[in-house]
Amino acid sequence: MVDSHLHFRPFGGRPVPFEELNGYLNKSGVHHASIYGIGQMLPVDSDCTYYLNCPGTPVVPSMKNDFANAVNYMEAKPKDPDLALSMTFMDLNHPETIPPGIALYDKEFPGMFRWAGEVNLVKQALFPNHHTSATSENIKNWAPFMKVLRDRGIPITIHSDLGNDKEPLKYLHLMEETLRRYPQNKIVWAHMGLSKELSTMDPDEHIAIMTRLLDAHPELNLDLSWRVLEDQYFSKPGVRQKYAAFLDRYPTRAIPGTDFVASRDKDYSVYEQELEVTSRINKALGDKAFRHIALGQNYFRLLGLKKEAPEVCGAE
Ligand SMILES: [Zn+2]
Repeated sequence: MVDSHLHFRPFGGRPVPFEELNGYLNKSGVHHASIYGIGQMLPVDSDCTYYLNCPGTPVVPSMKNDFANAVNYMEAKPKDPDLALSMTFMDLNHPETIPPGIALYDKEFPGMFRWAGEVNLVKQALFPNHHTSATSENIKNWAPFMKVLRDRGIPITIHSDLGNDKEPLKYLHLMEETLRRYPQNKIVWAHMGLSKELSTMDPDEHIAIMTRLLDAHPELNLDLSWRVLEDQYFSKPGVRQKYAAFLDRYPTRAIPGTDFVASRDKDYSVYEQELEVTSRINKALGDKAFRHIALGQNYFRLLGLKKEAPEVCGAE
């Protein structure tokens, strides 16, 4: 029903054309999606399409993809899927550039951007490409743009790695500081802080941290996107039940997504597979969590839509 984490544009090179990607959503039965740009772009003179293939090449947030998405969206104006444009240009290490950026979007595309992110607080996979984590000082200086998001009820999806296999909680303090400073913002934590760099964390420990933060911060939501979560965690023996039980305890606090990146070397079969893999966790959920997560109720609430997800019929 919902793909809340979908990158319509690649890191560099050609994208899957907008209409073709909408066709993927129609074909697979996804009726609601967020149009993410990409929080890190390769330079215009680079031939690379994936940053991991070109260490040393700097990647930086950019407005290019957001503009391309907005123009494509305006031209096509699809009714189904229902698409929510997202501001992905925000450079959290240079927060002073963000309010003027939002002002530019307001001028060019008034009222059209309904989401923010995915933006990078700390993403270790990008370290070889000159990305550094945002600092405490940076986080403090987010205040002006976080106020804009708050005033408009716009959620922000933040990629913030918990840590890595050597130091699993190395960066936890950055997300904690963000939540402490901005308790009223609708913050969506991308991938629950998990990543390829953190492949061996004890699920009980991870769930305990998520539980503590969800309890302390009522506006925090978890993003379940990216097949890495299934491949490295949910698919391990006994682990799916633990996460399903956790989500059943917090049925209103998570949203689903593929994290598909629409570079032209991919086709429908890749989208279909990523959707299938990232949806497996849904089958383990109880009815309430299934309705709120898989059928979209949480996503609708975050977007401020009046829409109601269908009720789940009791099994015979
Ligand atoms: Zn993503």
